[in-house]
Amino acid sequence: MPTCQNCGKEWSWGETMKSMMRIRISMECPHCGERQYQSATSRTRSSMIGILPIPLVFIFPYISGMTVWIALILAIILSAVMVSIMPFFLKLASKEEPYW
Ligand SMILES: [Zn+2]
Repeated sequence: MPTCQNCGKEWSWGETMKSMMRIRISMECPHCGERQYQSATSRTRSSMIGILPIPLVFIFPYISGMTVWIALILAIILSAVMVSIMPFFLKLASKEEPYW
């Protein structure tokens, strides 16, 4: 779970999900209220996780004979799983870090 770089307190899964759902660059610490940013390495990792279900929809039906709809449903389930495990990979930074 992510730890606030300002107060050092760990965010719970629910708090992290709530912060992530607000589509903003920064997230507010539920303990101290200080703005926190997703670290550059964590951002790269989460975008990799986000891309993973895509090949499943396009490649898997061709190699397995599975219909596109079943692959699509699997990709949606996989995406939901990916989003719910995202808080475990989230690392925080006190300042916004450059992308690369
Ligand atoms: Zn804090």
